[in-house]
Amino acid sequence: DTKEAEATVEQTAETTPEATAEEPAASTEKGLVGVSMPTKDLQRWNQDGDNMQKLLTEAGYEVDLQYASNDIATQVSQIENMIANGCKLLVIASIDGDSLGTVLTQAKDAGISVIAYDRLIMNSDAVTYYATFDNYMVGTKQGEYIRDALDLDNAAGPFNIEIFTGDPGDNNAKFFYGGAMDVLNPYIEAGKLVVKSGQKDFEAVATANWSTENAQNRMDAIIASNYGDGTNLDAVLCSNDSTALGVTNALAASYTGKYPVITGQDCDIANVKNMIAGKQSMSIFKDTRELAKQTVQMVDAIMKGGEAPVNDTESYDNGTGIIPTYLCEPVFADATNYKELLIDSGYYKEADLQ
Ligand code: BGC
Repeated sequence: DTKEAEATVEQTAETTPEATAEEPAASTEKGLVGVSMPTKDLQRWNQDGDNMQKLLTEAGYEVDLQYASNDIATQVSQIENMIANGCKLLVIASIDGDSLGTVLTQAKDAGISVIAYDRLIMNSDAVTYYATFDNYMVGTKQGEYIRDALDLDNAAGPFNIEIFTGDPGDNNAKFFYGGAMDVLNPYIEAGKLVVKSGQKDFEAVATANWSTENAQNRMDAIIASNYGDGTNLDAVLCSNDSTALGVTNALAASYTGKYPVITGQDCDIANVKNMIAGKQSMSIFKDTRELAKQTVQMVDAIMKGGEAPVNDTESYDNGTGIIPTYLCEPVFADATNYKELLIDSGYYKEADLQ
């Protein structure tokens, strides 16, 4: 069983209240929905999977939820199995947006609709809808945070910055990076922000698999060559929390200068703890309960042969045309508002953050 095998291989993410909740009683008359998630090793996908399973079950669907250990071939074969098992619809958070074309042609031929979940699936005309957070806005919020924290419009500078984004196979990474760089590039061009490592283009700052370890290794090398002599690093743009964690670990190991501004995304428990401890400046809260809710509405609409509510019909072209999209709103989080956002809303319990 792939799921069990994965649990022993991958690092277990910290469990959340949702992850330990009892599974609701199944009433499955509406048919089987396949939910394909990329990996268990990042906290958020566990929450996404749990939320989807809960809401789909409550809505009367049978659910086949699989995690693919960040391995493309595993994700493809899990989706093949879902098709073979007679699923009526697929909800997929892809590992590599460009690698599902063939299997999704099989789905289309079998009359199975596909919803791209969080990450757009590229170059496949089998994709009916896309449900995600406003990925470009995530990036602009991170960039604006750095701009304001360093007071770039007034302070003399120059300030040193380094940049870490996500996996090149994840279409979101380009949106996060693009949104942030649209804010920061004018300051880089004006010489007010300096990328001392020279690593600035998307390919140079991408982090394979969004891995904490890869980010940490790159940050270790950057510190050794650029900031080992007491030069201050003023800011690190990190597109998400797993990369921010790698950067924070590297700083703790070998950086002695003034502590930089560090961005993130997801409000993972480890990172919220770091925000409280002053080791990460901000994160972006993406309420996965809301994304699951919107996605289940899409599932219901498709199954009834109707149209699902969308609020964006221009931003996301997957190479076969625009995919109608529902964008949830990402929310700024830091040490001053996390209680209201994360605890009062029931997303975490106070004890999770201690
Ligand atoms: C998601 C982020 C997540 C990252 C790494 C992105 O596609 O939108 O929320 O941090 O993948 O899993």
